[in-house]
Amino acid sequence: MVETMRFSEFGLTTLKEVPSDAEIISHKLMLRAGLIRRLASGLFTWMPLGLRVLRKVEAVVREEMNRAGALELLMPAVQPAELWQESGRWDQYGPLLLRMSDRHSRDYCFGPTHEEVITDIARRELRSYKQLPINYYQIQTKFRDEIRPRFGVMRSREFIMKDAYSFDIDKQGMEASYQRMHSAYTAIFERLGLKFRVVDADSGEIGGSRSQEFHVLADSGEDAIAYSDADNYASNIETATTTPVAAGYPDAKEELQQVATPGVKTIEALCEFLKTDASRVLKTLIVDGTDGPVALLLRGDHELNAVKAQKMPGVVSPLTMASPEVIAKATGCGPGFVGPIGLGMPLFFDHATVGMSDFVCGANKKDMHYTGANFGRDLAIPTTVDLRNVVAGDPTPDGNGTLSIARGIEVGHIFQLGTKYSEAMSATVQDPEGKNQVMSMGCYGIGISRIVGAAIEQNHDEAGIIWPAPLAPFDVVLVPINLHRSEAVRTAADALYRELRERGLDVLLDDRDARPGVKFADAELIGIPHRLVISERGLAAGELEYRHRRESESRNLKREDALKLLE
Ligand code: ATP
Ligand code: MG
Repeated sequence: MVETMRFSEFGLTTLKEVPSDAEIISHKLMLRAGLIRRLASGLFTWMPLGLRVLRKVEAVVREEMNRAGALELLMPAVQPAELWQESGRWDQYGPLLLRMSDRHSRDYCFGPTHEEVITDIARRELRSYKQLPINYYQIQTKFRDEIRPRFGVMRSREFIMKDAYSFDIDKQGMEASYQRMHSAYTAIFERLGLKFRVVDADSGEIGGSRSQEFHVLADSGEDAIAYSDADNYASNIETATTTPVAAGYPDAKEELQQVATPGVKTIEALCEFLKTDASRVLKTLIVDGTDGPVALLLRGDHELNAVKAQKMPGVVSPLTMASPEVIAKATGCGPGFVGPIGLGMPLFFDHATVGMSDFVCGANKKDMHYTGANFGRDLAIPTTVDLRNVVAGDPTPDGNGTLSIARGIEVGHIFQLGTKYSEAMSATVQDPEGKNQVMSMGCYGIGISRIVGAAIEQNHDEAGIIWPAPLAPFDVVLVPINLHRSEAVRTAADALYRELRERGLDVLLDDRDARPGVKFADAELIGIPHRLVISERGLAAGELEYRHRRESESRNLKREDALKLLE
């Protein structure tokens, strides 16, 4: 690289104050270190320092994609509505899709993803099975009109994604292409020096069969991950399955009783009021269904899983909680007092309600609950379904392990799409017998910009960012003491700067006329891995003061040893 790496010419403004709208540490540090600046909700400028990091992520991703045999191309960000109508997604995608029209009143969208465009390319360019397998990728700007943009570049509206799409003659071929991407992604996140986990995932909006996500582990992660090292199971909590409980129902000990619970609307308040435990409460949630409202029933201490619930027959997807008006009309009472006994709507009971006895539930009357409710007496014994989030301690699906829960940031996602798009858009090639075959597709995304935030979530301290070496905007920062007053320091600093650059290192020379403390604080905030201090006293002894960003003490090194260490 030939661009300047002198601090005085870099136009960098660091901030001491923590910006008020930033909720999590990576967002705060990215603003304070001057990596990004906000333009509007979910829109950010990558400043020169931040762009250096972004480019480093891109370089690793590009190298590993090329190594895996994928071909880089670049598709338009703006896409004609016709393609989305062909795939059926123009109507399905909803408000996440930014729609616009041109001067001729033709409809377009700003691409949130590129399955349609690449399938159009494939159906035009690919004629024969001999051209397969093929995997196209791009690194490009996407737009998704997120309902709640937050966490800076981690959930922004405009962001940079690496998206890849594989085409194969059949399912086996697709599975092999998918596996190649699984390996490439593993190599990418290992090279970036991030702690990550691969988990089973929901295929969501995109459709298709198998899919897995790559998560960077961090407490601030928006996703919960269930895993067991005992049997290698790992899944996004959205899709982690619970197994039916085999135990039967104990005999009823209590009578069914209506009790007054005035104004007690939450499970917490109810437990407090009735001196009972949430596990002894049957919780009733009313959601919108295709033919009127539907009731979902869970143990009071369990959480509803929306992804599972919206797959139940007759339940509206995406899952929508019924409005108080709908609830009042269907049950005769407000939310908080609804229960399954005598409730005239479809009921889905979670597996974990099996074995509940003498439990508490709503009585479908304002300010009233039942106690002593029992299956087999007050309610028919139901067939149960999987509706809840797994919790730590649950068994894994094959029963050989116990689940732990961690939090993660989704940085990559790989899908086996099958023929969803190729079928809808007639993307075929000739097979060896000369017959037309619909191609089998896979698609593979990496959140390039999100990785930068995720890396900081995982690597920081009170002083600032601690970049994993492959991501650092600079490898080493030179801090000359008294640069503007000492000829010896200036000469030594310039020589070292040149020499390190010649050795291929990215060097930042802090040539500002500022106190050493200011320079040290900025170097720590920015997170540069290696720091060399050049002072008159050190030079006299032929030494430089070295400190690694992760270490708390500096040490003096002979100039040659410092150079060797940096190589
Ligand atoms: P999420 O569940 O976080 O909304 P997604 O599953 O909708 O993401 P994909 O369609 O799988 O996202 O997109 C591929 C990758 O793009 C994701 O794994 C993520 O790293 C990144 N990504 C998605 N949405 C955003 C966003 N709003 N801001 C930054 N990166 C994003
Ligand atoms: Mg995803």
